[in-house]
Amino acid sequence: MAKLQKPPYVYMNGRLTTWEDARIHVASEALIRGISVFEGIKGYWSHDNGDLALLALEEHFRRFCRSALLQHLPMTMTFEQFREACALLTRKLMDRERDLWLRPTLYSVEGHWGEDTVADVAITCYLLDKKRPDPIQVGVSTWRRPSDASLPARIKSAANYQVGRMARIEGRRQGFTDMILLNSSDRVAEATGACVLIVKNGRVSTPPAYEGCLESITIDIIEGLCQSLGIGFERRPIDRSELLLADEVALAGTLMELAVVNRIEFRDMPAHSPVLDRIADQFWACIRGERPHPAVRLTSVLPA
Ligand code: PMP
Repeated sequence: MAKLQKPPYVYMNGRLTTWEDARIHVASEALIRGISVFEGIKGYWSHDNGDLALLALEEHFRRFCRSALLQHLPMTMTFEQFREACALLTRKLMDRERDLWLRPTLYSVEGHWGEDTVADVAITCYLLDKKRPDPIQVGVSTWRRPSDASLPARIKSAANYQVGRMARIEGRRQGFTDMILLNSSDRVAEATGACVLIVKNGRVSTPPAYEGCLESITIDIIEGLCQSLGIGFERRPIDRSELLLADEVALAGTLMELAVVNRIEFRDMPAHSPVLDRIADQFWACIRGERPHPAVRLTSVLPA
């Protein structure tokens, strides 16, 4: 999604409104202190195009609530209300030719330094091509993930994306698709909007959240797929040099899906990524509803 789309409808203030009318006040804490948390949720058409399903909706809701709790943003929606709000917007904007991406945001509309905070949930929805991601080129940024005591990376707060934005600007100048941020101990944290997976000797490793990355829902899914495929999977600290010397590297996340890295910094990766390809084939079969899997939870949204 290179350029921001402007779909005709947005969910805001408990109902659908037009894109133009979805506004907030300039004095809101959402604007002046960047107080908002969000989620990204993919909607996939099934392989026979019969059904559109939101992937891991409840897991996203639970992380949304954790992010809200840590940021002292009152979250008043129940899961059922959240599901209905997502379904309402999805039905309005769905298009059989394209998958979609929902972006629910909880932001502070009123309040001052965390007192008397009033928050609202807005949801935007964008259409995306139904295609598997192309291989990507990734660099290691000079920007760092701050420590958990500075800016907790395990939650999905807007503030966490300030450094990611700077890293992407840095990376674009160097011809990279995305950038990996190290943490304050010089180990791999995550990319600007996805987690990092490396494969060495047939085994998949990814940094745990305490290394400075989001508690990723895609990584949990991949862990479940690896278990059933008999592929070793571990969460452990990863040095920069391990990243650069890995047999295979990928970025994984809701929007990124599972994108194989074919160049990391100065190094062209081997042309084949057998372990990642096996996981990706399984991932796509499961999310398109061809092969049910307990780690891949789908919530159908029927057309209106
Ligand atoms: N890290 C960051 C910074 C992200 O923005 C994302 C995307 N949400 C991820 C990791 C991957 O998380 P998830 O698999 O839950 O989408």
